[in-house]
Amino acid sequence: MRKITLGKTNITVNKNGFGALPIQRISDKDAVYLLHKAFDNGIDFYDTARYYTDSEEKLGMAFQDRRDKIFLASKTGAENTEDFWKDLETTLRNLKTDYLDIYQFHNTPFCPKPGDGSGLYEAMEKAKEQGKIRHIAITNHRLAVAREAVESGLYDTLQFPFSYLSSDQELDLVKKCKAADMGFIAMKALAGGLINHSAAAYAYMLQFDNVLPIWGIQRETELDEFLSYQENEPVLDGELSAVIRRDQDELQGEFCRGCGYCMPCPAGIEINTCARMSLLIRRAPSEEQLTEKAQAMMKKTEDCLHCNACSKKCPYGLDTPALLERNYQDYKEILAGKEYE
Ligand code: SF4
Ligand code: SF4
Repeated sequence: MRKITLGKTNITVNKNGFGALPIQRISDKDAVYLLHKAFDNGIDFYDTARYYTDSEEKLGMAFQDRRDKIFLASKTGAENTEDFWKDLETTLRNLKTDYLDIYQFHNTPFCPKPGDGSGLYEAMEKAKEQGKIRHIAITNHRLAVAREAVESGLYDTLQFPFSYLSSDQELDLVKKCKAADMGFIAMKALAGGLINHSAAAYAYMLQFDNVLPIWGIQRETELDEFLSYQENEPVLDGELSAVIRRDQDELQGEFCRGCGYCMPCPAGIEINTCARMSLLIRRAPSEEQLTEKAQAMMKKTEDCLHCNACSKKCPYGLDTPALLERNYQDYKEILAGKEYE
């Protein structure tokens, strides 16, 4: 089984990390079953967040009796110290533990630093002194904030979207983390559902010895797929390289990576999903994209103010409002019965 060390934390874990966002969508019983199966098969790193509703509680239920055999990472989106402490206490209570291995600022719009006036970094240091957290870390979707975090030397790990569809900018971030002896936790290693070849995704990740992918797992079949790679590692040979190249070619240029750098939208449009709906609907299970909730989300595209705030922030130079319109048009046609598979 391949292991990975998260930089200066010296946390050494199975290369398969468990992203616990999707377990929000399943019952307590199913979540505990899934988590125990992951644990029994060697998965020992679990990433959750205060924002993921009952994900922390489910992890607490599953791992209360084996806390010392796993590593737990959670996140706070607090913007002030009062909320920071509230979040931390809630998280510890939910997880039924008295410490977190990694505590991350959750996609903060800026990089918290000592003396910046927010008091957030100082609160992290205090929590560490008190033994409530072991490592101070950050997650982000913004390249500028991520780069600043790496350069600051203040963080032990960075969590950032990373997959074989990522650009040279993300690859450079991975290299910078390695040089800074920081662990890199890869979220969206399946590009938020656009990558449907998990063996190719796993093989790609094996090239980076400082990168820990946390696969978002909700179904036992998904777990089984990743577990199977532990004994039979997929090799980046001609066949898998061709899969990656094909995906990269197909998804080059005018496509939304779902990174969310352009958010928030003043009209409340969920740009990072709506602007790639045509791809999601064809490459991921389509029924999830056609629910009433998904339809309401797509309808919001009609509220676009054409302020172009999103396209100005898009690092891929996309004409985001136009992309939204194209995706919405296609979506409406699909709802009206257009063949799309
Ligand atoms: S152009 Fe439309 S989608 Fe983009 S930020 Fe403005 S309102 Fe939101
Ligand atoms: S439009 Fe650009 S910035 Fe927004 S989610 Fe898509 S790729 Fe990211």
